[in-house]
Amino acid sequence: MTSLLHIAIPTPLRTIFDYLNIDSNITPKVGMRVLVSFRSRQLVGIIVGISRSTTEKNNAKLKTIEKFIDDQALIPQNTFDLIQWVSDYYHHPLGECFQAALPKKLRQQDPAVLKTETYWKLALKQDEIKLGEKQQQIVSYLTNYSSAISQQQITAELGSCKSSLLSLENKNVITQHQQVKQTLLACNTKPSHLLSKQQLNIVDTLWKDHHSFKPYLLHGITGSGKTEVYIQLTKKIIEKGKQTIILIPEIGLTTQFVQRFRQHLEANIVVLNSAISDSDRKQAWLLARDGLTDVIIGTRSAVFTPLKNIGLIIIDEEHDSSYKQQDGLRYHARSVALIRAQRAEIPILLGSATPSLESLYNVEQGRYTQLTLTERATGAQLPKVRVIDSEGPKANSGLSSILYKSIKKQIGEGNQVLLFINRRGFAPVLMCHDCNWQATCTSCDAKMIVHQSRNILMCHHCGLIHRLIQHCPTCKTTELKTYGVGTQQLEQTLQQYFPETPVIRIDRDSTQKVNAFADIVADIQKGGAKILVGTQMLAKGHDFHNVTLVGVLDADQGLFSAGFRATETLAQLITQVTGRAGRGEKSGEVFIQTSQPQHRFWKELIGKNYSYIAHKILEQRKDMGMPPAGSLCVIRAEDRQQTLAMLFLTEVLDVLNQANQQQVMILGPVPAIMEKRAGRYRAQLLLSCEKRKPIHQLLDHTIDVISKLKLARKVRWSIDIDPVDLM
Ligand code: ADP
Ligand code: ZN
Ligand code: ZN
Repeated sequence: MTSLLHIAIPTPLRTIFDYLNIDSNITPKVGMRVLVSFRSRQLVGIIVGISRSTTEKNNAKLKTIEKFIDDQALIPQNTFDLIQWVSDYYHHPLGECFQAALPKKLRQQDPAVLKTETYWKLALKQDEIKLGEKQQQIVSYLTNYSSAISQQQITAELGSCKSSLLSLENKNVITQHQQVKQTLLACNTKPSHLLSKQQLNIVDTLWKDHHSFKPYLLHGITGSGKTEVYIQLTKKIIEKGKQTIILIPEIGLTTQFVQRFRQHLEANIVVLNSAISDSDRKQAWLLARDGLTDVIIGTRSAVFTPLKNIGLIIIDEEHDSSYKQQDGLRYHARSVALIRAQRAEIPILLGSATPSLESLYNVEQGRYTQLTLTERATGAQLPKVRVIDSEGPKANSGLSSILYKSIKKQIGEGNQVLLFINRRGFAPVLMCHDCNWQATCTSCDAKMIVHQSRNILMCHHCGLIHRLIQHCPTCKTTELKTYGVGTQQLEQTLQQYFPETPVIRIDRDSTQKVNAFADIVADIQKGGAKILVGTQMLAKGHDFHNVTLVGVLDADQGLFSAGFRATETLAQLITQVTGRAGRGEKSGEVFIQTSQPQHRFWKELIGKNYSYIAHKILEQRKDMGMPPAGSLCVIRAEDRQQTLAMLFLTEVLDVLNQANQQQVMILGPVPAIMEKRAGRYRAQLLLSCEKRKPIHQLLDHTIDVISKLKLARKVRWSIDIDPVDLM
């Protein structure tokens, strides 16, 4: 009797589709990939259930699957269950959740087979024989490693040497074998630091309960040795034969971080970030699933990597907003990781110098255990911080003369300087002095940004590009002026002030190419670049020992932003940025330029500390019933016709109101603050409640009706659970 396969297909439709099995020797299993034809397309689906087929009559209506792609389950049961949870919690179609969780090649029809490679190793017994030069090189290279080394790595290090390898094998000096390909080359290890008392304490505390689910918040000031703690814990987990997954924020942080793990752990490590190739990503995923790698270091989506024997989850910089996906499946990797740890009954360690309010709240509620590191591991002092009035004496390009003088002094002493300005491009405004014309985007409610080096105007919201014009398009003759400062202008000004000093710019424009960021970081570390100008990309986690001065040029943006997390984010950013100075032997100083030097925020952040401000903001959020004290969900819609998004959300509101038991407060619909973006008009509906459950129940009850609204097929819409902003 043919069985009925229930299949999750990558479509926005919130349905599981039934297909008939085909005759083959493959026994269908949950978690296998199959190829199906769906609305005249061939799609890869995942089997999520199997039942006996019903009557012949019913069968006649069903299609048969095209073929099995796997002959065993691709996705292990626990990962499968996790993705199911994600689909339920985020109210997102299951088929699309599988897409988000799988590496690209496995979303397609690539076989789930590990690649193997030739590895070489010294033979146990060595006879005294005469060797050629290349052969000697190979032998002495292999002596450095206790494990076998891949032919690829040997060739990369010593140049092509296949014939030498084979003749060494003939002489019984080395042996070869096929082994699964690891995605990173082997690396020599260095001895680790002896942990400080505080660090040891943390490792011990966590280790005591490493067989049960327990979340820890590690609040350690910048440079206090959190990474070192992660390394030691990972080492202990590996000794138990288990795997560790470490999440890090997006952006170029990976290289430095991974390097430290590799130097201090004799382990197989895989990295999952945006820089690795699709085939390495697939290999890494399979290695992790099959228990052939000890450590997985990756950005957000690595949280879905299946692990055969998971022992610990670590989230570094847990407050970072890049853990929240902002489109498609809008999940928060920290939330998913917590569920994962709970189900696997393992500890989870969230580390940060500036913990999120979510985590501080959870500590307060007794759900997390807090651990602290209060001193810098190298014994260095935290830098002195000064607030300067940006309306005071100026040098140029928004640079105050106090800051200018300090830069001059520090580079004179051979130190490095880091300057933050959170705006890329040359200038944010191009304007006519006479008639007030401004360059604005035709597709967005936004200004066009001047990019002088490329001679263009660019919209940072939709990417629209125009030639840079010199004269006002309305009054024709008047010359246009730029206002405000971006990274490119600051870079240019500094280069003019200090023509002998290498200035380097780090923003999304200068780091577009793969590895560009890593190259820049390497250059900074070597001391090549002296003045570094960058957006907040540069604020995260780096350990540059020679930086003694940090300047923040546009701290005001955060003080006046409309987003409800703006002050929290600003406090985190300033604290992180401050942490970049004086990490080595020399002490550091920090200057913050603001038009509001008297603002209470500065007094509290600098006079007291991050914890003080964070707890104060937390109290305010509690009073307002805002996250983390309350729960939010935003339903967003957008369409090219101005009225449709609002119209759709008004219909959604009706549906919700009918089912709502008064527990959930529904606000809107209202147009988004930037209503028009990339040619679409956007609107949103806000759901808020003290507890999260009523929101989920309401959505569970109404989502089917909402999806079947006529307009639901016409406008683009999405559900955002626990949104990071309401913009
Ligand atoms: P964090 O991750 O908290 O910013 P790191 O782990 O990067 O801190 O440590 C900051 C610096 O202190 C690094 O250069 C690191 O090598 C060093 N360090 C960490 N732990 C120790 C230790 N126990 N003894 C000496 N140096 C240490
Ligand atoms: Zn004009
Ligand atoms: Zn635009």
